[in-house]
Amino acid sequence: MKRQYQPVIGLEVHAELETASKMFCGCAVVDSTMAEPNRHVCPVCLGMPGMLPTINAKAIEYGTRVALALNCEVQPFNVFARKNYFYPDLPKGYQISQYEYPLALHGWLDVETSAGTQRIRIRRVHLEEDTGKLTHVDGGYAGGYAGENASLVDLNRAGVPLLEIVSEPDIHSVEVLKAFAEQLHAILRYLKVNSGDMEKGVIRFESNVSVRPIGSDVLNPRTEIKNLNSFRALTRGTEYEIARQSAIYDQAGTVRQQTMGWNEMRQQTFAQRSKENAHDYRYFPEPDLPPVQIDPAWVTEIRAQLPELPAVKQDRYQQLGLSAYDAGVLVAEPETAHYFDQALSALASTRVSAKSVANWLTGQVFALLNASGQNLANLKVTPAQLVELIGLVEGGTININSGRDVLKKMFETGESAQAIVARDGLAQVSDSSLIARTIDQLIADNPNELQNYLAGKESLAQWFFGQVMKQLKGQANPQVIKAELTAALELRKKHAQDS
Ligand code: ADP
Ligand code: ZN
Ligand code: MG
Repeated sequence: MKRQYQPVIGLEVHAELETASKMFCGCAVVDSTMAEPNRHVCPVCLGMPGMLPTINAKAIEYGTRVALALNCEVQPFNVFARKNYFYPDLPKGYQISQYEYPLALHGWLDVETSAGTQRIRIRRVHLEEDTGKLTHVDGGYAGGYAGENASLVDLNRAGVPLLEIVSEPDIHSVEVLKAFAEQLHAILRYLKVNSGDMEKGVIRFESNVSVRPIGSDVLNPRTEIKNLNSFRALTRGTEYEIARQSAIYDQAGTVRQQTMGWNEMRQQTFAQRSKENAHDYRYFPEPDLPPVQIDPAWVTEIRAQLPELPAVKQDRYQQLGLSAYDAGVLVAEPETAHYFDQALSALASTRVSAKSVANWLTGQVFALLNASGQNLANLKVTPAQLVELIGLVEGGTININSGRDVLKKMFETGESAQAIVARDGLAQVSDSSLIARTIDQLIADNPNELQNYLAGKESLAQWFFGQVMKQLKGQANPQVIKAELTAALELRKKHAQDS
């Protein structure tokens, strides 16, 4: 029988900090998928000899926000360090990073999983600069390389502030890995330090993977999979490595410590190089930058300004009666949570519940947004207007079907529900004597259906219901129809038995 293995996973995350300017110079941080290449560069980020870097204080603030949100201890003494290596997208021949004295240490993040809450420790959070971006083009490139293969470098990204977040190897399943990565992604967005646009490469994951026999606590050699640019690549790549290493151990082989890449086409990892060690980079303190003293009082100020974070929000929503799933959907995007929070504050003077708002928002509203390719940012229905609509439905002024139609109109025009109901005469018919008369007339007009019903074809009750609703233009109160119809049919049944 094959042995069972436990995965051991540590996650490293590289997140760009979207400050106005770069980490060590005044160049603008731009969307590297949009800007014309190599326009946002200067002698500092181009690595010209003799140029002096300066530290972007905003990047330290952004990094501190993240560190605090991850429950880290922000270090009062920071040192930038040179990490020496050569790569075509690194004009200086070294990257300014942090090594011995990073921004923050010893944090944690709680992750909700199917097996309950799990705490993942954060080893460190440090600041560094991004490299440029290489694009490999094959023959036929129109810019003067026809027929040749070429690698093009765009240095707009060189020197963009980058935050590296490193977890302890506390993750033991791909499910937990994904939940952890998603929560980090949400936190970065809530803190407004990163757009979260994964397809633009502003967040890159690196998964460190080893496996061991279940029950063992050894740390086996690991491989690290670099540049995983989506949650899917992260989970697929990690699953692949777990299976690959397990198969090696099954054959009594050894796993080599290696750096791997992820081939999206083949859905496979591939070996890139044997894993380098820290000494290969010959780290030393950056001679062109002074150490940074971080004032604890300033850290306290930053902490006080942190927004409510997704995990806390999720808890609060669940306290309001939402399921964990619904609460999770609402907190995943800060825009959604913001909309929901605004709706909650419009509930005060109504009898509408938080749960109803969640249902309408994640159901009807999301469906309308999806169908029209829009998002909450351009939604014409304000949170208060949505609450008003729900109030009209739950208070019985309009029925649920009219409610959906009204929402559609609100969505198109931005009008209030009240206005649409009044203009289109949608107010629900709850007049039971009118409904009763309609029912009697319908029964009289359809003697065959009545006979069949009395002979045992119970489903015809539903048919009568539909006919009544149709007669009343879809605006009747379904509860009243149901009650009146049941009474009317019971009466006919009794008569039939008596005669
Ligand atoms: P490096 O800086 O060379 O990438 P670190 O020792 O700092 O190496 O670890 C990087 C990541 O690898 C961390 O997230 C850590 O949790 C994880 N890690 C370390 N050892 C293992 C292991 N045996 N199996 C899985 N992950 C590991
Ligand atoms: Zn520059
Ligand atoms: Mg690493």
